[in-house]
Amino acid sequence: MKMNDIEKRLYHELENLEIIDAHEHLGPESARIAAEVDVFTFFAHYTRGDLLVAGMPEDVYKKLFDRSVPLDERWRLFAPYWEQIRYGSYAKAALIAAKRFYDVEDINENTYIPLTEKIQKANTPGIYERVLRDACKIRTALTQCGSTDLGGTPLLTPVMPLIYSMETGTDLMQPKFAPDAKINSLDDFLDAMKAYVMRVKKEGAVGLKMMSNPYQSPSKDAASTAFNDIKTGNQKTLPLPNPLRDYVVDEVIRFAAEQHMVICVHTGYWGDFRMLDPTHMIPILQRHPKARFDIYHLGYPWMREAIMLGKGFPNVWLNLCWTHIISQKFVQIAVDELIDLIPVNKVIGFGGDYGLPVEKVYGHLVMARQDFARVFARRIADGDLTENQALAILKNWLWDNPKELYDLRLQ
Ligand SMILES: [Zn+2]
Repeated sequence: MKMNDIEKRLYHELENLEIIDAHEHLGPESARIAAEVDVFTFFAHYTRGDLLVAGMPEDVYKKLFDRSVPLDERWRLFAPYWEQIRYGSYAKAALIAAKRFYDVEDINENTYIPLTEKIQKANTPGIYERVLRDACKIRTALTQCGSTDLGGTPLLTPVMPLIYSMETGTDLMQPKFAPDAKINSLDDFLDAMKAYVMRVKKEGAVGLKMMSNPYQSPSKDAASTAFNDIKTGNQKTLPLPNPLRDYVVDEVIRFAAEQHMVICVHTGYWGDFRMLDPTHMIPILQRHPKARFDIYHLGYPWMREAIMLGKGFPNVWLNLCWTHIISQKFVQIAVDELIDLIPVNKVIGFGGDYGLPVEKVYGHLVMARQDFARVFARRIADGDLTENQALAILKNWLWDNPKELYDLRLQ
């Protein structure tokens, strides 16, 4: 991004700012080091969606990660589709990361082999420190990988699922979150969920994640009927949504809030995104005024609906995780409107939202810094803000707000 002088100064200040990364899917570093990696590790995540939409068949996508197929053959399969997706935001994070960590200006026919060799050579203990701490200045990253066992590093702080599937007999009688629990009734199931919340809290989890699916008003009677229908075999599978889920989600939110756990909510963007409208959350926000909700992704494409949750409900924080790699244009508009609409203590500025390709957290962060530099510099040039005020707001968004919301005691 070409920058003017004010943008350059802000960008430079942001490079030196220690931050909290408010959402990732990083597993323990040992899992990354044990993984076979190559150029396609950089295309293991969101770029999958772009490749499939560009026309890559699913079996070809799978083959990219079949290390028994020679690298050059996999590159030949990949190259035509790469040309279709290389200008998108997901690709940009990969290109920035390849340049920063592996000194590769572009990912192409001439560089995929040296890039693979460099990725493999760097896949050693300390890679999280080198990427997250040294390059990104991240003190800790809140991460959701389905486990609280993250190798004991203060660089990672776990967030766990709020809800597991509860649509079949196995889901209810041997739930994944408590396989040994003795469950005969809805109350037993709820007790097992509460025990799970207490356990993961003790293990260091600071939040529980749910989705902004449609939920009906909770009814214990309707939930018991649904539970018993499955238990007795009257019904094999509950449809979605269903009264059991409506009730259990509500009860777990209440209990988790009493335990001072943050409720993290994925909104918008994914598959049939009609099921993820952020406004589905309104009745839940109203029923749980004391719970604290971290609303993710600005509900793309319902950005203004998501912002209005932050405008109208004191129990809502707005988290820009994932947003800068959805579209920088969209998020720059959003950041401008957030400054107009939302108190500075209620926005959380960054979450990389990556799993295996940890290097792309840096790529995403560069894009976030660009977005903040562009929008805040324009405000400064217009005379609406001083540079010091802009930097104070950004420190709120990237450090103070996630630290306070999640009550992080950072070492
Ligand atoms: Zn995520």
